[in-house]
Amino acid sequence: METLANFINGKYCPPVNQRYIDNMEPATGLVYGQIPNSDADDLELAITAAEMALPAWRELALEQRADILVKIAQGIEDNLDKLALAEAIDNGKPISLAKSIDIPRAASNFKFFAHACSQFASEAHAMTNSAINYTLRQPIGIVGCISPWNLPLYLFTWKIAPALAAGNCVIAKPSEVTPKTAYLLGEICQQAGLPKGVLNILHGTGKNIGSVICAHPKVKAISFTGGTKTGAAIASQVASQFKKLSLELGGKNPALIFADCDFDSTLNEVFRASFANQGQICLCSSRLYIEHSVYDKFKAALVEKAKALIPQDPLLENSKMGAIVSLDHLNKIKHSIEQAKQAGGTILCGGEQVQLTGRCTQGYFLQPTLIENLANDALCNQEEIFGPMITLQPFDNDKQALTLANDSQYGLAATVWTNNLTRAHHFAEQLHTGIVWINCWLLRDLRTPFGGMKHSGLGREGGNEAMRFFTETKNVCIKY
Ligand code: NAD
Repeated sequence: METLANFINGKYCPPVNQRYIDNMEPATGLVYGQIPNSDADDLELAITAAEMALPAWRELALEQRADILVKIAQGIEDNLDKLALAEAIDNGKPISLAKSIDIPRAASNFKFFAHACSQFASEAHAMTNSAINYTLRQPIGIVGCISPWNLPLYLFTWKIAPALAAGNCVIAKPSEVTPKTAYLLGEICQQAGLPKGVLNILHGTGKNIGSVICAHPKVKAISFTGGTKTGAAIASQVASQFKKLSLELGGKNPALIFADCDFDSTLNEVFRASFANQGQICLCSSRLYIEHSVYDKFKAALVEKAKALIPQDPLLENSKMGAIVSLDHLNKIKHSIEQAKQAGGTILCGGEQVQLTGRCTQGYFLQPTLIENLANDALCNQEEIFGPMITLQPFDNDKQALTLANDSQYGLAATVWTNNLTRAHHFAEQLHTGIVWINCWLLRDLRTPFGGMKHSGLGREGGNEAMRFFTETKNVCIKY
């Protein structure tokens, strides 16, 4: 049993209250460690450390700041196997996915923002009457970064890296469901020479430490990724303090599959978009709209692939589908499958929990599930389920496809599969989502704006958007 600690002022320390919560391994259903159940006392220590560290960090030459961030990236790469194993145990994701996507991307986040901080420019606006304006973008001070369990280190670093690059000190909280790689990041930062107090990592629940970070008057901005309900709670909690707030929230992403698509590559990518990470990526497609003339063929091919995707121990190198992250989450998805059946949905494949043998006997495994015959206003087509449970609906024409896709409170990402260039542009313009992928999914360029519309969030991350979020803007006007 491993006991994790907070990372405050450059060193690991136990929670002041000496209280801990269990850390479960989803593939075994067993407790395998303890994490601090931190509270306001730990936050005060972190705030003090961050206040001490801030003046030197914000004044550090950009080149030196960038050097340290590059060294952190290098440290992540050097520890790839260790971090990937920790992520697979903590989250239940296939170890091959952690090795090829999650951990390399965490390193890329630090590398990208190391370069971004030295290239981030501000604007100047010359006036005709002998005056010029220039814009200063200065560090905000102490900022809070709160992340979810689905892509633990990937999303944790996606916030921390730009916050540090912009010259802030950070109080960061990973999900209590997947704390291990965030814990290991502390040591990597120490070894990279990050000055003490610049990054402080606090573990624990949303209630005991997450909301306390959000409420603290010395935390001037909050970057949050997680569920829409939590985002709404944070927004109302901090509204009266006028904090800067970035919210990356839930999604219910449509995939629009037209008869003129490249059938085989569309099938492979839509399948990946549906079930990658057990369907637990905010960008996963969960509503598939398929043109009538190709519906039966596409459905049959998708069902065949889904039946061949067998959940396995995530620690096996050849595992393609691991465990659902927690028992609560597994039960939530199973409940949604029951709801779908009651609403008249037809289960095309899957729908059942899977019991593995050996060390995974008590793990949380679920078959990939495809469902049809549900109305678009059925709960399963409207609420985020965040698991390997996908619905299929046919459509007759472009207008109907667009109406169905936009009929959602969410607006994170959409994919469009067509070889008709005019249609592709039309849908890109008309879809109510922050991200549209045409003939691809999860093809990421870290310079692009990332985020959602409607109940999927507020603000954008990525590239200059993140650098702008983590800085305070000041206009200076000079008359000469
Ligand atoms: P969650 O909202 O339950 O928790 C997210 C984080 O917030 C955790 O660290 C949690 O401890 C903390 N938290 C909980 N209550 C809090 C409060 N009142 N104040 C402050 N912090 C609090 O979400 P989750 O279940 O961990 O993650 C799944 C959700 O995240 C899904 O809805 C998914 O769509 C969303 N998500 C969105 C994106 C995106 O980029 N839009 C990316 C990944 C995940």
